[in-house]
Amino acid sequence: MGRIRILPDQVANKIAAGEVVERPASVVKELLENSLDAGGTDLRVEVESGGRRLIRIADDGCGMLRDDALLAFERHATSKLRDVKDLLSIATLGFRGEALPSIASVSRLLLETRSAEETTGTRIEIAGGRMLRCEEAALGGGTVITVRDLFYNVPARRKFLRTEQTELAHIASLVTHYSLAHPSKTFLLTSGATELLHVTPVATMKERVYQVFGSHVLDELVELGVRERSLPMPRVSVPPSEGAPPGPRDNEPDEPASRTFRLSGFVSRPQVQKANRNSIFIFVNGRLIRDRLMLHALSSAYYNLMPASSFPFALLFLECDAEEVDVNVHPSKTEVRFRHGPVVHDFVRDTIRERLIESRPAPTFTPAARPVVPAPQPGAALPYSEFSQALANEEPVAVSVADEPRPAMPVAAATDTVLESAPEFALRPPPAPVPRLDFTAPPLEVTPGPPPSGKLQRRLDAHGEFPADALPPPEMSLSVLSELRPLGQIHESFIVAAGRDGLWIVDQHVAHERILFEQVMKQRAAGRVEMQRMLMPLIIQLTPEQQIDYARIATELHASGFETEPFGHRTIAVKAAPAAIGAANVERILFEILETVEGEPAGASLEDLRRNICASIACRAAIKINMRLDAGKMEWLLRELAATDCPMSCPHGRPIALHYSTREILKAFHRV
Ligand code: ADP
Ligand code: MG
Repeated sequence: MGRIRILPDQVANKIAAGEVVERPASVVKELLENSLDAGGTDLRVEVESGGRRLIRIADDGCGMLRDDALLAFERHATSKLRDVKDLLSIATLGFRGEALPSIASVSRLLLETRSAEETTGTRIEIAGGRMLRCEEAALGGGTVITVRDLFYNVPARRKFLRTEQTELAHIASLVTHYSLAHPSKTFLLTSGATELLHVTPVATMKERVYQVFGSHVLDELVELGVRERSLPMPRVSVPPSEGAPPGPRDNEPDEPASRTFRLSGFVSRPQVQKANRNSIFIFVNGRLIRDRLMLHALSSAYYNLMPASSFPFALLFLECDAEEVDVNVHPSKTEVRFRHGPVVHDFVRDTIRERLIESRPAPTFTPAARPVVPAPQPGAALPYSEFSQALANEEPVAVSVADEPRPAMPVAAATDTVLESAPEFALRPPPAPVPRLDFTAPPLEVTPGPPPSGKLQRRLDAHGEFPADALPPPEMSLSVLSELRPLGQIHESFIVAAGRDGLWIVDQHVAHERILFEQVMKQRAAGRVEMQRMLMPLIIQLTPEQQIDYARIATELHASGFETEPFGHRTIAVKAAPAAIGAANVERILFEILETVEGEPAGASLEDLRRNICASIACRAAIKINMRLDAGKMEWLLRELAATDCPMSCPHGRPIALHYSTREILKAFHRV
């Protein structure tokens, strides 16, 4: 007799559960997706003990017919697919028919459901995959699924669960994500007696963001709008997932030459810098996913606008032809594979970047006690996200303690080269995260008395009424930089300037860096980088790794103004360098560039490399802090800065200018 046996369904389901049901949040995800697929518009999620003791999801969707309700717990039973062709164009969130039997095999599950077509409903009880009860019941329309004692029969899995708080945070993050993707639906999440999220239908995504995160977050975001583009498809397609059969996925003769991609959502202004990816929510065709390609496209969009170690807030919705994306990559359906990955990547990167550059906002001093109405929903504030965390675990990133917008006053990155040239005045983070120029502090009062009387009010007025029409619109952008009047320098490092719309403080080094960076990039694009010959070739010794990196980027180096050639064993000779940098800096810049490309895969983007090289040149060539500037020079700097594409952050992503608007000045002086 042979030794191979077919596993009984019960065992097979438990094995599948290992992949599908990793933790309570996975149960919530599967059930919520089913409710959405069923057309539910009112989705209520109730949990106890972080979902270990109880998860209940109620929807007002189409419900199940009695026969279907029984069938739903069979392995691979689904109403969403008919044949293998359907796999290429899946429009529902579910399709594998694995979730219900998997969940039922590792918990005590109660299903209560009624389809509009039937007068009575069905109640089914299953424990550890065994059917205990199936009966008719008088029920309202829709479906309620209650999952108790998750993993009660899988002690190994139970041990791996984290604290209740952590599991609850995963769940909250998940429900929050889905509520953002479906603004027209009601979502309610409660944990015991606590309401963590409750949002009612609204017309726009913007209103939903406001409901979930509050006005404070919304202020920091740039809305992408709906950006649609028809993109030509490369002739030879990228191979689909390994192991997947070729066939219909390869280019076919009748395939369209181009496909339409649509990106919408919100991204944060570059000044909003998060320490981890917990605030990045990515949906592809309505499906919440984690995807390296999309994450990479997002960070590339912020390249040179934000430090590489920071992350933005992003809520992205990519819509495309179902055939362009393979969702059948992983049992938990949280990964996808794009058929034309590079096309999608560049579309996402360029769309976001264009929008960021268009909006060109300046960082402002934020009054410390600004009222935030409404506050974010508790569920949205839980600092944890299953989807981002899974990626974060693979690549260590900073923990979430610093997950706050940076203080308005620039706190220089300690690694920045500027520090070297500033021995006596180092830009160190202040002891506490308070802006050093605290315009927002309440005025000093000698005796805390009653609110100002009418008499006092009149006296205040005697200081002079501020003409109301002098108040510029609050969202005035950096274009006003060109009209600024420099008043002087602070510490010979920051230019203080007055304008129609208030007070500006500009970091002279990073401002000049931005100007030079764009200049060098333009010269490079036009193939006309100004070079200077070295009096004597500069000989530089490389390590074996640097030698490899050098060989890879030599052509681009040359095009960027560094004329170099191999000179014996692991040595290169530099014969010319970009005119903008002094000869004394050449060696340092070259090592800096080699360091930034260290260990990059051979296919790393040429665009990124080009930007890196230009950023290094700009940084070295820019005026330093601790340097006295005369009025003419300051005026020139502000004018040039105003003319750049991106006057709000330096090529390394630090803020350039701080703005204290007239309105805020007036508010601080209690004049408005
Ligand atoms: P899948 O979602 O991949 O089809 P599931 O195991 O999650 O597989 O669900 C099996 C089937 O049960 C679904 O195809 C659907 O027909 C039905 N079903 C599950 N949940 C609901 C629900 N909340 N409302 C209506 N039908 C549901
Ligand atoms: Mg499902």
